[in-house]
Amino acid sequence: DAAALVQMLFSLGEMVTATESVDEATFELLGEELNYTVQIVSPEDEDRELLEGFDLEFGADEGDEDDLAFRPPIVTVMGHVDHGKTKLLDALRSANVVDKEAGGITQHIGAYQVATEVDGDERRITFIDTPGHEAFTAMRARGAQATDIAILVVAADDGVMPQTIEALNHAKAAGVPIVVAVNKIDKPEADPTKVRGQLTEYGLVPEEYGGDTMFVDVSAKSELNLDKLLEAVVLTADASLDLRANPDQDAQGLVIEAHLDRGRGPVATILVQRGTLRVGDSIVAGAGHGRVRAMLDEHGNNIEEADPGRPAMVLGLNAAPGAGQTFIVVDDDRMARQIAEKREARERAAMQAKRRVRRTLEDFMASMEKGETQELNLILKGDVSGSVEALEDSLAQIDVGEEVSLRVIDRGVGAITETNVDLAAASDAIIIGFNVRPQGKAGQMADKEGVEIRYYSVIYQAIEEIEAALKGMLKPEY
Ligand code: GDP
Repeated sequence: DAAALVQMLFSLGEMVTATESVDEATFELLGEELNYTVQIVSPEDEDRELLEGFDLEFGADEGDEDDLAFRPPIVTVMGHVDHGKTKLLDALRSANVVDKEAGGITQHIGAYQVATEVDGDERRITFIDTPGHEAFTAMRARGAQATDIAILVVAADDGVMPQTIEALNHAKAAGVPIVVAVNKIDKPEADPTKVRGQLTEYGLVPEEYGGDTMFVDVSAKSELNLDKLLEAVVLTADASLDLRANPDQDAQGLVIEAHLDRGRGPVATILVQRGTLRVGDSIVAGAGHGRVRAMLDEHGNNIEEADPGRPAMVLGLNAAPGAGQTFIVVDDDRMARQIAEKREARERAAMQAKRRVRRTLEDFMASMEKGETQELNLILKGDVSGSVEALEDSLAQIDVGEEVSLRVIDRGVGAITETNVDLAAASDAIIIGFNVRPQGKAGQMADKEGVEIRYYSVIYQAIEEIEAALKGMLKPEY
């Protein structure tokens, strides 16, 4: 029983309580003591086994050399805020879209493809249309590597900034080659030479200085040198990557983004990594499944198939999968449903497990008394902006001392939404509802996620309770 385990851990030199979680090493230690082999199964391993059970493998061998065909590189644009990532993505999209005549206005579906001519050949490049490294990192956190090449945007007037370095480090950590776009060279104060010098210090040495990183001076605003930038991407891909995939097999790839459309139901933008996806295929995407009812490209045109490197919006799933989750074509709808249901059950179980460790205000007090917690995160929602402000002001005046901190991580007017609950779950926050209630499924979701929502209609009552909790949270002084 629990007490015996705690006792045993204690004798092994680990001080834990019965409800505390322990790390993997401790589990292994405990296993040894009890003469069991402890096998820690990661969610990835578990999923691999699940697919194996259906004779499927994500990222399986693609067959002979002869079966492989070139595929376009997949590019993410990264860099410091305001350096022009969005502008560059927009400029590239409007200037170089494939089959411009065929489509109308390009739509934002999360990824798009452009064509450029290099040495007389038409070459395609796929851009992930979400700037910043959040998307990149979120996908990597899920174990998905969507990006082949990163374009690091640095504004020539600003030079290298903290997020430039952060982005650079993310790309390096992922082993993704970098092409530097020195942007805003239309500005009189632009100093592209300085940018080159700065990045050299971080190990990105320009080719013209004898290094192996291509730097291209561009202006997203004046659409200057965009073709050169595309060429640099192609050349970098050719020099350092073997981008080939087998188009003649069942498709698999990644979900770039997904949402619930009022009219069309769940809509997912996917990126085919290998094989060819066709209308009518049965697929599993994350915990969603279904038959591909229709596919649209970035111009809103219907397409019948999508080959490797091709982004497409897929209609026909029963649920919207998460960004960075994988999709895979399976034999039939039944198999798709079985896999999706197993995944969903597992997600639910993982959620339950997480829920148990999540905090309520009472837990906060308890853990504060033990001297563990120092921070209380709050999300404030109220019926009118005046009450939210008043609440926040009063909270700010609570004297909590130096050992505890109170952080209002989000505030707003209106009902408590699913987004609020999401944020609360992610940051272990408590939601304060002042004269407002949860909207739609938000309440249900809070229950499921174990997020505490406290309702008040009198400000001082809210303040009193939070203050009490915080005071209770103060570590005893010796
Ligand atoms: P992001 O935060 O990196 O996505 O940056 P944005 O694309 O939103 O651009 C930030 C600001 O810089 C906007 O006001 C753009 O109009 C401006 N900007 C972007 N590219 C250029 C450029 O090449 N030249 C000039 N002069 N301004 C630019």
